[in-house]
Amino acid sequence: MDAKTTSNEVQRRILDAVDEAFDRQLETTKQFSAIPSTRGAEGPCQDMMHDLLRERGYEVDDWHINVDDLKDLRGFGPIEHDFSRARSVVGTYRPAREAGRSLILQGHCDVVPAGPLDMWDTPPFSPVVKDGWLYGRGAGDMKSGTIAALYALDALRAAGLRPTARIHFQSVIEEESTGVGALSTVQRGYRADCCFIPEPTGGRLVRSQVGVIWFRLRVRGKPAHVYEAGIGANAIKAAYHLLQALEALEEDWNRRAASDRHFRVVKHPITLNPGIIKGGDWASSVPAWCDVDCRIAVLPGWSIADHQAEIVACVEAAASRHPFLAKNPPVVEWSGFLSEGYELTGADESEAVLRSACETVYGGPMKELAFTALTDTRFYGLNAGIPSLCFGANAEAMHGFNERVEIESLRKTTRAIALFVANWCGVETA
Ligand SMILES: [Zn+2]
Repeated sequence: MDAKTTSNEVQRRILDAVDEAFDRQLETTKQFSAIPSTRGAEGPCQDMMHDLLRERGYEVDDWHINVDDLKDLRGFGPIEHDFSRARSVVGTYRPAREAGRSLILQGHCDVVPAGPLDMWDTPPFSPVVKDGWLYGRGAGDMKSGTIAALYALDALRAAGLRPTARIHFQSVIEEESTGVGALSTVQRGYRADCCFIPEPTGGRLVRSQVGVIWFRLRVRGKPAHVYEAGIGANAIKAAYHLLQALEALEEDWNRRAASDRHFRVVKHPITLNPGIIKGGDWASSVPAWCDVDCRIAVLPGWSIADHQAEIVACVEAAASRHPFLAKNPPVVEWSGFLSEGYELTGADESEAVLRSACETVYGGPMKELAFTALTDTRFYGLNAGIPSLCFGANAEAMHGFNERVEIESLRKTTRAIALFVANWCGVETA
């Protein structure tokens, strides 16, 4: 069988096999999504993935990540929490005869915290299907995508086929805070002719994505009883002052974004998000401290070091205009992502294969997306020169409450991945 194009009859068999197993796929997706795998607690998800890969006959590599191996690599972001149990899991398929193009399929199993439980209609880690959607934290971002990729490979086997190229199925952690899970697989030496990450993109190919910098403002004040507040200095109010200056920097960066060839059409692509605020000890004491954790985006091609320097300069200038901070300057700490943006280029061959799969499955041309969030594709693309595609189902309320993925879009994504693998790696009769 030709490695590059499978016949219509074979494609039909593959699509039927996806449909045949789809109920089981949904069941596995629910089990995977029921695991509360927030940062530092991904272990049970990695255990489940290890078992799923092993029972399918993949050669499984399951290792503890050593931060020291990673910290000098491009795109590394500082880790502040207990990392002693952090693992990566890779299942490898090796063909008897190498004829096609090799592939990395990657998913992240970490999820962001659920937030106030009373804001969810149903509990975040008890996934339920309702009106054609699967609800649950991580159901959209991106456990359904990872399981879709697993079942796409299953569909080839069920259709009596086996790929003729090496495939690494990679389950990683910490996509939501640093990306060190994906970085660890690159460091470990996993390489392929193309990488595919089924994040929920609404059936669109990510053409370009932002990078992200995380930083923490550590602001000090001077404590006093509020009855003599005049002699104190309020660290929480001082943090407002710094945030206002950073909002001006955000607008400045958005003006710069107007010259980016993909993001020029996106309204306000750079967002500064103060995401965590902590400070003070007592309602009737002038607060002596305030910490604010922030996230800001950068665009592809923007240097992380230069933009870190701009953040520091902005905070220093604002502090110099403040009566207390001028003499007690705040500190900027780097608290996670130090990630460049990534523009997909040099992927003509793999894009053509995905485009053709999409035309078959969706009955129309593949759409593209300039993404105002980041994905792990950057590590494969920037660190290893592997063209890295990001494409997946339709999800809503990611990082919000009542996160959900549209089930029919998940079926289509699974079909598209299965056809993509068949035509990228090539298949032969088993
Ligand atoms: Zn994600």
